[in-house]
Amino acid sequence: MIDFHCHLDLYPKAKEVYAESLRRNAFTWLVTTSPKAFRATSSVLGRHETVLISPGLHPEIVSERFEELDLLTAQIDDAIAVGEIGLDGSKRYAASYLKQKQVFSAAVKRCHDMGGRALSIHSRQAVPDVLELLRLFPDHGVPVLHWFTGTASELKTAIGQGCWFSIGPAAFISSAGKALARKLPRDRVLPESDGPFAQLDGRSVMPWDFDITVALLSDVWSLPFEEVRAQLLSNARMFVNKIGYTKLIKKLI
Ligand SMILES: [Zn+2]
Repeated sequence: MIDFHCHLDLYPKAKEVYAESLRRNAFTWLVTTSPKAFRATSSVLGRHETVLISPGLHPEIVSERFEELDLLTAQIDDAIAVGEIGLDGSKRYAASYLKQKQVFSAAVKRCHDMGGRALSIHSRQAVPDVLELLRLFPDHGVPVLHWFTGTASELKTAIGQGCWFSIGPAAFISSAGKALARKLPRDRVLPESDGPFAQLDGRSVMPWDFDITVALLSDVWSLPFEEVRAQLLSNARMFVNKIGYTKLIKKLI
């Protein structure tokens, strides 16, 4: 199994979920929500080549964690991936929007300065601004828009800018979500859980729920399950190769 966007450190029994992920997953991208959480999670869970732990600063907590921005940019220097970062344009976080933009643009700029990173990006109700900041600092690496909920025309622009997309079971609950999933470029889609936040049938989506995403994509793409599964695994190989995480490639074959 594989998971390209997961808050593994935030499950109630994180150590057990981690151990289970090591057993069941060939790859898990653990995105953290703040630079201090990145530090703590890295030391508590330790290093394992199949789990990529990345420093981030989630837009929903920028108002409380803004002073950690310098720590984030320093952590980006030593990372191959960054996330969760991004912008949230919903009303609830309107008061911090300018600070969110400061954080996100500083992070993307640092990725650009450092020659490129993989970025796991939150873009709820803020896709045009996210794409504009990505354009402002080209060669930032490989952007992955996680749980994309923009419009069809925003999706087109994002595809044109070279974005990848990570999607999980919860994104298929609404009919709008299904319609967007149908339009995703098949060779740039990666599976995600977004657990423990993302819920399915009253429980958190788990890092090893890959086949649920495959089944849902197989339905909206009208393709056989095995074909979709092979496509996502091939995308995963392509992606880890692109970001230079080559020690993983063999495990994903
Ligand atoms: Zn997330």
